Amino acid sequence: MNDVEKGPQRTCIACRQTKDKNQLVRYVVAPNGAVMVDYLQRLPGRGAYTCIEKQCLLDAVRKDSFQRSFKGQCLHVDFTQLIGQVTQAVEKKITSLIGMARKSKQFISGSNAVIEALRKGSSLALVITATDISTTIEKKIAALTLRNHIDTACFYDKQTMGQLLGKEERSVIAIHAGLLADSLLKQLHLYRKLVREN
Ligand SMILES: [Zn+2]
Repeated sequence: MNDVEKGPQRTCIACRQTKDKNQLVRYVVAPNGAVMVDYLQRLPGRGAYTCIEKQCLLDAVRKDSFQRSFKGQCLHVDFTQLIGQVTQAVEKKITSLIGMARKSKQFISGSNAVIEALRKGSSLALVITATDISTTIEKKIAALTLRNHIDTACFYDKQTMGQLLGKEERSVIAIHAGLLADSLLKQLHLYRKLVREN
């Protein structure tokens, strides 16, 4: 990213690194004193930020960084709840991006259609397979995405994927190259890092 594109900068309360605020999670204090995730960064009031990384969440809790940042005006933060909230927020963002892909028709869905598009070498940037996809289809898709250097992710079950697209069950969807695909890739990457077991 060059300097012209640089947005407002904020500092992670755990690792103290300064980053573009879009690369951080924002937190605010709810009326009941609980620290809550403000992933879309729209809630009023004083905000605190962390990197979207397990280690920074863990360090922020361990070092009482939330207490310090909110000047003692918040309740104790539980790590499990915190990472749960952040993961959920990322998941919600992914779902809304899939919704945008649906509205703007920037996707292909269904195993036959996706396999055909991959064989033709269409400009696809990302293929998402369902967690309960059949092994046979999964192998075919994996071979084709590998050959075409296309990123893949495994997310949702077939039913949920279909529902998001307003269709019957879908075991695979592919997103055309573009800004939307870039955003989805970024969020899927964050999600994977958050749920990865240490
Ligand atoms: Zn950090």
